[in-house]
Amino acid sequence: MTNVVLSAENLSIGYPARRGQCRVIAKDLQLHLRRGEVVCLLGPNGAGKSTLLRTLTGMQPPLAGRIWLDGQDLRTFSARELARRMSVVLTERVEVGPLTAYALVALGRHPYTGWTGRLRPHDEAIVRWALEAVHAAHLARRMVHELSDGERQRIMVARALAQEPLVMVLDEPTAFLDLPRRVEIMQLLRRLAREARQAMILSTHDLELALNMADVLWLLTADGTFYCGAPEDLVLKGVLETIFADTGMVFDRMRGQFRMHQTMRRRANLTGDGLAKIWTARALERAGWQVVELPPAEAHVTIIGDSHQPSWELSVNGAPKQQFTSLYAVVHWLRQQCQEEEQHERHARATDCA
Ligand code: ADP
Repeated sequence: MTNVVLSAENLSIGYPARRGQCRVIAKDLQLHLRRGEVVCLLGPNGAGKSTLLRTLTGMQPPLAGRIWLDGQDLRTFSARELARRMSVVLTERVEVGPLTAYALVALGRHPYTGWTGRLRPHDEAIVRWALEAVHAAHLARRMVHELSDGERQRIMVARALAQEPLVMVLDEPTAFLDLPRRVEIMQLLRRLAREARQAMILSTHDLELALNMADVLWLLTADGTFYCGAPEDLVLKGVLETIFADTGMVFDRMRGQFRMHQTMRRRANLTGDGLAKIWTARALERAGWQVVELPPAEAHVTIIGDSHQPSWELSVNGAPKQQFTSLYAVVHWLRQQCQEEEQHERHARATDCA
């Protein structure tokens, strides 16, 4: 396949030795990034995401291996040539001083202007295009330090776009943003990749957003193992379950979601269908019940009515059926039953010992 703009061969990343051995974070990485592609880099804290991004952007040298940008060895680029091909958006809130949003985005033209930094009409047009691309033309005259985190992040992306790079590298672009703003920035990046044929690498902790929007995931584990592939390929191979196995999170392959790990000691047989069944199963699992299609089970839950106005019929351990009109009431009642049962068991054990 063609259109590769960034690649790495046998890349080892880490830190050279001060005394004794090098600190190798990951080794023998083979990486490819193509035009129009969004790569999400995921991994637990300390796995080496920032180290990898710093190495790929030339901020720190590899321990071994080669990196190619636009067909040329990364080591041979001058700072100015590199800035014409690659732009970086960092997580830290950089203090930019008293600048308007327009002036900040205009800084992205630095690699193209002379030493005076004066913008030509062509540069001005690109700055306006970059602001429009991130839907921030109306912010052009505002001072950057007065913008909200979400607006500011859009301006930082516009500055990176104004560089007209082949590759944009974004270190946790959604950190500090609330959920709607995170989704908005991810959708914006997705759209820019498609429309401007922009290649992007972004590190993130937003697992589900990454699963939904990345063309490729790069997964780095704490022991330096590296997995790479389309999100769906990695799900089918069971990679996500393996990686997050000891984090208290469980990846549910059927639903494509992460959830908290729960010890499910009891089984609930659920009868019903449609949306109501899906959300009833979620509520039961949240309460620590394993949902099964067929008996045996300690609880039997039947959904009555349709998904718009469901109600629930419940019986636990053969006790008389109860009816409920909300899942809150179902879960509350199940919890009460379990607590009573556990109290009985404790009491019985205490009596046996005595
Ligand atoms: P992440 O971005 O995934 O949280 P980092 O790339 O920041 O991880 O760090 C990966 C590992 O490299 C960590 O164990 C960290 O302590 C170590 N590390 C980071 N910077 C340095 C450094 N300058 N010298 C030596 N080790 C470092």
